[in-house]
Amino acid sequence: MPLATVASRALVGIAAPEVTVEVHLGPGLPAFHIVGLPDAEVREAKDRVRAALHQARFEFPARRITVNLAPADLPKDSSRFDLPIALGILAASGQLKADALAGHEFAGELSLTGELRPVRGALAMALGAGEAGRAFVLPVQSAPQAALAERTRILPAASLLEVCAHLAGEAPLAPYHNGAARIAPSYADLADVKGQAQAKRALEVAAAGGHAMLMLGPPGTGKSMLASRLPGILPAMSAAEALESASVLSASSIGFDAARWGARPFRSPHHSASSAALVGGGMPPRPGEISLAHQGVLFLDELPEFPRDALEALREPLESGSISIARAARHATYPARFQLVAAMNPCPCGHLGDASGRCRCTPDQVARYRGKISGPLMDRIDLKVEVPRPRESELMGSMEAESSTAVRARVCEARERQLARQGKPNAWLQARETMRYCTIDAAAEDLLKQAIARLSLSARGYHRVLRVARSIADLAEKESIGTTHLAEAIQYRRLDASF
Ligand SMILES: [Zn+2]
Repeated sequence: MPLATVASRALVGIAAPEVTVEVHLGPGLPAFHIVGLPDAEVREAKDRVRAALHQARFEFPARRITVNLAPADLPKDSSRFDLPIALGILAASGQLKADALAGHEFAGELSLTGELRPVRGALAMALGAGEAGRAFVLPVQSAPQAALAERTRILPAASLLEVCAHLAGEAPLAPYHNGAARIAPSYADLADVKGQAQAKRALEVAAAGGHAMLMLGPPGTGKSMLASRLPGILPAMSAAEALESASVLSASSIGFDAARWGARPFRSPHHSASSAALVGGGMPPRPGEISLAHQGVLFLDELPEFPRDALEALREPLESGSISIARAARHATYPARFQLVAAMNPCPCGHLGDASGRCRCTPDQVARYRGKISGPLMDRIDLKVEVPRPRESELMGSMEAESSTAVRARVCEARERQLARQGKPNAWLQARETMRYCTIDAAAEDLLKQAIARLSLSARGYHRVLRVARSIADLAEKESIGTTHLAEAIQYRRLDASF
């Protein structure tokens, strides 16, 4: 049979739409054409497939070979199609029974010696194959993350020869089973951070409602330590959230470590990161740090040092929870529901307000430094808290600091109240929902009006204060927001006046 079709999948964002690899052998001078891939990638794919077939001692047909990847308008990273193309050539030239391909999907890059190399997005592809009712044949290294798609039959193979032996019925591939029992993820403990009661309280409020937070303080006061403890006090991920988080990582170049299943991601890109690295981009589009932090925490240390355009690009995903990347004809949407935690020094030298008095920054320099962060971004950060140098008594104190487990129990209860009341964390409430779920009495209304005037808060800021107050009331197990809850929420906006 001079025609063969093989099922595979492309990767668009974190979705894996089906791609049919059609191989046709025609009369005429020997030639090898691949249609449906960008030019630059075609030659490499041809070289790898030809070499792998030779190495495995198959015959490379001296015919006019045409490979078509359909549909034509899908973006395709070429290397994943090496295996299906090679199998299609073998089936079309009668070296492999064509009907053996049915019921399978294939993906894998071929080395020149015919070994299979891992592919990106194995989890999304495995989910798609399972929905289509097919087994998924893929490189051994990609099997653990693909196996997170529990209903899909995963058949890992090390080489083209192993796949051929399986399809010929000589040596069936053994299905991969996720042998390792799923263990609860472990995180660094909040008890490791000495002192800083105020910042810890703010971190707890941020965790309860999913609010963004900024820590302002000199170097070495534990800002990074505090931020890295946030994932450990957040509620456990649901199965759907864990699958989505794993799918994003699986589609990225860093890949997903199956042992990290259910662990909330913590990403802390350096301030030299480009806008594309932070929010995503490139050709073909790849997820950025905000998507790798999906369902977890994005920590931006030394916030004013990040490129301004990179910070501005955070505004849209902070509102919508996703990011659309368009490059030329290619387009991808990645989820980006991350919790932002930022840290910065109080001034360029970092020692403003220090008792030693060694800060020599002028008020002008301080204003310019803080001005690097735009008003609209500052507006979206609900909690701002100072993290001063701890007093010696705090460091030496023998008082046992509270563990993450204890804090997490309160956070979980507060989060459950929110889900029961409104189906989402307080930070995700829209304006209309805020008016409905964050009502306050007349005395609290007066307090808020005064604060708005004093801190010159925007209309957006008004709603944001209410949502934080709602989280504080939820932590206190109160149905209604009281003046003490509101006063604490306003307190977290006090630093706005200095920006
Ligand atoms: Zn200074």
